[in-house]
Amino acid sequence: LYSFKKFIIDEKHANPINELDARIERKVDSVLALMDVNEKVGQLVQYSGKWNATGPSSSKGDQYKLDKLKKGEVGSMLNITSVATIRETQKIVMDHSRLKIPLVFAYDVIHGYKTIFPIPLGESASWDLDLIKKTASIAAKETAASGINWTFAPMIDVSRDARWGRIMEGAGEDPYLNSVIGVARIQGFQGDDLAQLNTIAACAKHFAGYGFAEAGRDYNTVNIGEYELHNTILPPFKAAAKAGVATFMNSFNEIDGIPSTGNKMLQRDVLKGDWGWNGLVVSDWGSIGEMEAHGYAIDKKHASEIALNAGSDMDMESYAYEAHLETLLTENKITMAQLDDAVKRVLRLKFELGLFDDPYKYCDEEREKNDVYTKEHLAIARDGAKKSIVLLKNETELLPLSKNIKSIAVIGPLADNKDAPLGNWRAKGTYNSAVSLLEGVKSTVGKNTKIYYEKGADLTIPTVKPGDNQFSHPLKFNDRDTSGISAAVEAAKKAEVVLLAIGEDAYQTGEGRSQTNIGFLGVQQQLLEAIYKVNKNIVIVLMNGRPMDISWASNHVPSILECWFLGSESGNAMADVLFGDYNPSGKLPVSFPHNVGQEPLYYNQKNTGRPYNLKHVTYSGYIDTPKTALYPFGFGLSYTTFEYKNLKLDKNDMPKNGNIKVSVEVSNIGTRDGEEVIQLYIRDLVGSLTRPVKELKGFKKTMIKAGETKTIHFIINAEMLQFYTVNKKWEVEPGDFNLWVGGDSNATLKASFMVTE
Ligand code: BGC
Repeated sequence: LYSFKKFIIDEKHANPINELDARIERKVDSVLALMDVNEKVGQLVQYSGKWNATGPSSSKGDQYKLDKLKKGEVGSMLNITSVATIRETQKIVMDHSRLKIPLVFAYDVIHGYKTIFPIPLGESASWDLDLIKKTASIAAKETAASGINWTFAPMIDVSRDARWGRIMEGAGEDPYLNSVIGVARIQGFQGDDLAQLNTIAACAKHFAGYGFAEAGRDYNTVNIGEYELHNTILPPFKAAAKAGVATFMNSFNEIDGIPSTGNKMLQRDVLKGDWGWNGLVVSDWGSIGEMEAHGYAIDKKHASEIALNAGSDMDMESYAYEAHLETLLTENKITMAQLDDAVKRVLRLKFELGLFDDPYKYCDEEREKNDVYTKEHLAIARDGAKKSIVLLKNETELLPLSKNIKSIAVIGPLADNKDAPLGNWRAKGTYNSAVSLLEGVKSTVGKNTKIYYEKGADLTIPTVKPGDNQFSHPLKFNDRDTSGISAAVEAAKKAEVVLLAIGEDAYQTGEGRSQTNIGFLGVQQQLLEAIYKVNKNIVIVLMNGRPMDISWASNHVPSILECWFLGSESGNAMADVLFGDYNPSGKLPVSFPHNVGQEPLYYNQKNTGRPYNLKHVTYSGYIDTPKTALYPFGFGLSYTTFEYKNLKLDKNDMPKNGNIKVSVEVSNIGTRDGEEVIQLYIRDLVGSLTRPVKELKGFKKTMIKAGETKTIHFIINAEMLQFYTVNKKWEVEPGDFNLWVGGDSNATLKASFMVTE
């Protein structure tokens, strides 16, 4: 099985363990033996853009790239996205270079290629691993059909700061959830065999610490201790390596003074050493060269020396390796063995993808036309979207709405927006191609329902245009033009219920999109309050890429539906939930704060020595805001009610290598069938290092029919209890543990057990 090919835990430098791998290694060695130093260095070079097009500003010109391609001194291209251009580019190498080593083509396929699925943070709210694997496999199929071999996904940076724009790209605040979701995405992209036509190589990124940037400022300094690094940030990466992810990407940030791109401990010692992983590490865009700006390298030559020694194999757009590795070799600053090891990792990937057998293997215009954006893919996009929706509030049981409701007002800058739901990093998702909320409502309600639509206000000025992306869309918020609000208020007056679609612009999250204000920007809050004055039956349909400050809304309006950016089928999926065709089952992968001042906020924090409050003194919290979340991690309502009881352990102690069986009864005591995510949390009460107050260690998502009771089982074993201890090893420490089972991270049904020697 592919998943076991790359990883032999605790063995230094994995050896091939099966016949196929052994064969690939022999081929890799035979190609390597033919290569001169220039050709070797060339394999470590990755350029962006169509070779004859003008690349991004930091790129060298077309002619330069063309010459390098002809000489066979480029290993990979990114951002070339059609069969015709991929074929054309590959042909340059085949026609001109001495060894004809095929290029491997990469692209950021983050949540779908042409069929767009919910943004990763949103899809993570489904807690549905089969679904997540499925959407990744469709993204892979569509990507491969365009001739591309490799995606820079999944992002598995644990991220706990709502201000950080890239929080939308990952699975949120929890290491375990990031691990299992990351693995599901990797399995979806890569399938069982990279050589198959509908699979692509995945990339675990960003190694490491990128999500912990100080104050949520993108690319910034990370100050995190060694133990915290191992216990919180590295577990998803270890899981990815173990699952056989083909590549890793390092990251822009530094940790405690060392840029991750130049971090030998992370890349060479841990990833390639301790974890025995033999895939390819690509730098982040320009991150080798950027070690100069960090003040960690004198110049690009020095940066190349640091990066290669540290285990960064491929140079994405720094133009550093190509200029300096050969000299560094002659000066003995790097070794031939290090260079060969990096090159072999590139060649191995190309053999695994089958590119040496046929460099044009993935170039098929028929597939490019027929295999993307199909009906089947859109049906799965709708399914994935509805399962990603989280019902945050439904106090008066306003939802679900009747399809025969007499009148409904659909209001807000996002209400008939067909572009925002595609979110950021939308690959080839076409501008304005999503189903809007208004369209979804129209195709769901009965013919007698009167619909009043008003935009109310624009969110940004100018609004998003075709071809915009996070690096080009200016994001100036409309905080003046309130001229549309009165018409919106009139519409709200006439309707039984108001669906108010507000939140964020598609490009308000993503790279370089950090924010200090996470509330409703522009005139949205004004719009909300004006409507609230005339009609209290408001359902906020929230679209966003980060946890927002929705405190006012939460204190006033009866219903809030968290819809993230749901992708191509957005409006249909929203209507499925709003009108009760689907009972919402999503759970937050990240805590929602009362206000931005609480950030970073996460449930699995440590106790202080003073976790309590005294009458007039707030310890370890704030005097103006609770220290807990407004909506906690793992939270999400349903149209039915689940009751948890009879939590049982088959025994109350276990030896270190033993296990305990846990069971709990979950009843659906409402009148609708529904899915529930049953969550298991554990606390290690005393450790050689302080431990979090609670950590997610397992979950099961299951359908429970109205009136039905299901018994859910978990097994507690050593793997779940271990942590990176003061001995700098993953160990289970004997002692007392608590566990909780419930529907969110505030679960109160509790038991205790002990681990003995
Ligand atoms: C991002 C990466 C991305 C790369 C290539 C960088 O700016 O940090 O996540 O994969 O660009 O587009």
